[in-house]
Amino acid sequence: MEKRERIFEGKTKIVYRTDEPDLIIQYFKDDTTAFNSAKKGIIVNKGIFNNKISARIFEFLGTENIPTHFERRLSDREMLIKRVEILPIEVIVRNKAAGSICRNLGIREGAKLTPPVLEFTYKKDDLNDPLINESHIRALKLASDQEVEVIKRYTQRINELMERFFADLNLELIDFKLEFGRYKGRILLADEISPDTCRLWEMGTGERLDKDRFRHDMGDIEEAYQEVLSRVEK
Ligand code: UDP
Repeated sequence: MEKRERIFEGKTKIVYRTDEPDLIIQYFKDDTTAFNSAKKGIIVNKGIFNNKISARIFEFLGTENIPTHFERRLSDREMLIKRVEILPIEVIVRNKAAGSICRNLGIREGAKLTPPVLEFTYKKDDLNDPLINESHIRALKLASDQEVEVIKRYTQRINELMERFFADLNLELIDFKLEFGRYKGRILLADEISPDTCRLWEMGTGERLDKDRFRHDMGDIEEAYQEVLSRVEK
């Protein structure tokens, strides 16, 4: 497998073609954004942490029969993935309230949400990724009804699996964001799963081990990502 030219550069990743048309390389940068890019910065070595953490989680989910785009990790910052057509939808699961749901609905941070809340947002930077529902997805033709059903089924299972996975590492999975893509008529879990896309709280103390340390200038950001990686690699 040979690395070819760059085809896309996003806020946190760069994508390269390979000599294999169905496979691409996802390179993880240290660049970090929050609040729809209103806040920008660098978390030193974040690309390495997130690549390794994501690879480990995709491997775990793969063994639990969740189809993912992940093929294998190639280097510290690169993973080989299937070239999917990313759906313009972000899928958010909330087990406890934090972030935007507290602001939007006036819920206390840390309030348990039973059953977990499922949200969809429309991936559109210029609109600040607005919250949408299944009726918007249908009317805007962002995904078929059948695809939405598959995504909801996978997402519920992923939440159960990841909650247990992190609980074993003494981390509480507060919320997270998923992206899915189309590949040869199937839906695959795509993008990344990392402290950039999950809120992870230390069990007992509630210490934040995720991007909220960057969002709210809490310090020790690299240490938090390193800590998550160390536990995930155990
Ligand atoms: N999230 C993400 N990318 C986004 C928006 C949210 O990965 O573009 C993740 C975020 O890290 C958190 C969860 O989805 O784990 C819920 O995010 P929320 O809507 O609370 O985001 P906030 O408004 O706090 O940035």
